[in-house]
Amino acid sequence: MKRPADATRCVHAGEDRHGQAAALTTPIAQTSVFIIPGLDELRRYAEGDRDFYLYSRYGNPTVKAAEDKIAALEGADAAVLTASGMSASLIAALVCCQAGDEIVSMLDIYGGTVKQFDSVLARCGIKTRFIPYHDLDNAARYFTSKTRMLFLETPTNPTLRCADIEALSAVAHRRKACVVVDNTFATPVLQKPLALGADIVMHSATKYLGGHSDLTAGVLVGPEKWMERAREMMILTGACLDPGCAYLLLRGLKTLQLRVERACSNAAAIADALQRHPKVSHVYYPGLPGHEDHELAKRQMADFGMMVSFDVRGGEPAVERFIKRLKLWYLATSLGGVESILSYPVLSSHVGLSAKRLKLLGVSPATVRLSVGIEDANDLIADLEVGLG
Ligand code: PLP
Repeated sequence: MKRPADATRCVHAGEDRHGQAAALTTPIAQTSVFIIPGLDELRRYAEGDRDFYLYSRYGNPTVKAAEDKIAALEGADAAVLTASGMSASLIAALVCCQAGDEIVSMLDIYGGTVKQFDSVLARCGIKTRFIPYHDLDNAARYFTSKTRMLFLETPTNPTLRCADIEALSAVAHRRKACVVVDNTFATPVLQKPLALGADIVMHSATKYLGGHSDLTAGVLVGPEKWMERAREMMILTGACLDPGCAYLLLRGLKTLQLRVERACSNAAAIADALQRHPKVSHVYYPGLPGHEDHELAKRQMADFGMMVSFDVRGGEPAVERFIKRLKLWYLATSLGGVESILSYPVLSSHVGLSAKRLKLLGVSPATVRLSVGIEDANDLIADLEVGLG
């Protein structure tokens, strides 16, 4: 059989269905520990053989099925699930760096990741140099002899700018740095960073991979040599995923392709409607020909994504009136679920940032971010139009 397409992988990859009475859906191995047949197995483990289950923090069959499905979707050897997206980025940094090393990171990444690099990693003696979006073409200047990791996130939050994974990976590899890409906003259905030259992909699986706003998880994906180290760090930091959560993730992943297709087409329709609305001064969506990274997005992604941001004329008071009138769109600070939700970056993901930093990121009190779900596009647009008044 030729290599299965993503829609087939979403449903079947990773799930071991063999023999009589095999369950079609992967069961939850709800146990913290496994019976060891004898001392031979313990001896094998001591010698480095990891091909069996001992203890759920080290590995669990339900968690493994979800890891294998995600690895297949990203086109990777292996994946390591973690307790959250935040633990995934932390483990990626610990895998690449130690005290005295440096990270180069885009500035336009999830605010929590910026804070993690600036506070947690700084305490471990790892310094991060941030590149503002407008200076990405000069990324090489931020590298020093101590740089061990380049961290990218594309499309970005909330202005949906794109970074050229292939070009930036080449810059990092000339300096022998490992390239980690946060692929949360795009999902492997739309963007495969490993095929573009990245070394490790990470996700907040809380978002599109889970897809139903009912779990918190993170994942790292990549070649065996990196994933062995990532698993060791996951075990030693205790950032393992619970098997019940892995079951929900497996279930969500089965419809990933379908959800992404539907939400992308909804997002394109919404961006188009907003662009023509007199109360909207700017729409951020890479699918619009006027978007600064439209050509790059066309080259790098299979479609333009499920997130749309826009600026409401009249700033914060107008945004407040808009949100109060909405019936279908809920105000909630996440993304990637089947429900359409909106967030207000200056009071959530970007709260507390200086006016200078906000300007650099292109975010203002007029900016609203939409995570477009899988409802009917006309219903979603009608509600936004009522909200805008
Ligand atoms: N990366 C991105 C792009 C995110 O949006 C988030 C959370 O919003 C994270 C990482 C952190 O993930 P989690 O909340 O699962 O820890």
